[in-house]
Amino acid sequence: MAERKAIPMETRLRLFSGASGHCQKPDCLEPLFPIEMGGDKHIAEMAHVIPHGQAGPRHEDRPDGNFDPDAFENLILLCPTCHTKIDKDPDSFPRNILLDWKENHLANLAAKQGIRTYDDRAEVRAAVAGIMAENKAIWSKFAPEHGSDFEYDPESEAAKGWSQRMRSVILPNHYRAQAIIKANLGLATEGERRTFAEYQEHVRGLSERHVCGVSGRAIRFPEAMEGLFS
Ligand SMILES: [Zn+2]
Ligand SMILES: [Zn+2]
Repeated sequence: MAERKAIPMETRLRLFSGASGHCQKPDCLEPLFPIEMGGDKHIAEMAHVIPHGQAGPRHEDRPDGNFDPDAFENLILLCPTCHTKIDKDPDSFPRNILLDWKENHLANLAAKQGIRTYDDRAEVRAAVAGIMAENKAIWSKFAPEHGSDFEYDPESEAAKGWSQRMRSVILPNHYRAQAIIKANLGLATEGERRTFAEYQEHVRGLSERHVCGVSGRAIRFPEAMEGLFS
């Protein structure tokens, strides 16, 4: 549905990173950067749980007191199909159901992706290694200036190709690797936890740049990630 005003960038970032690139309806969980679309664009829609108006879907679920419909807490990231469903049939999708989807999204996604906790470090490493290898292969082949500071012409073909791969393959891979590592942080050393924190910051910067179009300063991929769980 039409938005009254632009959702603040900070809110969009929180939504996109919280959704890890997938629709937040638990029986959908479709990728929001479909590979079939060449990674050109995302299909994500920021859906209001409680609408702006007095007549929109779920308006009678509006909590008392001050309420900002555009706040992070009132938005959920969905594919267009699911957005239509929840707005056409609000009785089946009341506020508490939608908030519950959002609350459990990462766990739902992890279950779908077969992410689990392992008994030993070698298994975690094996689960992450293939994902990281794919990212590295794409990076070394396509990254302009090999990931230095990306001060390239964003309209160039090379830059466009890189951005497409970033959104359709690299970022989803990163989200997935993060989920695996997070689920197994109990097996990590103190130093590895610090490396992981840096890695998350790196990915956050990439999302900021490639998903939200903010030319922020992404920190570099921490080299120590190569040795994680080894
Ligand atoms: Zn809306
Ligand atoms: Zn969906």
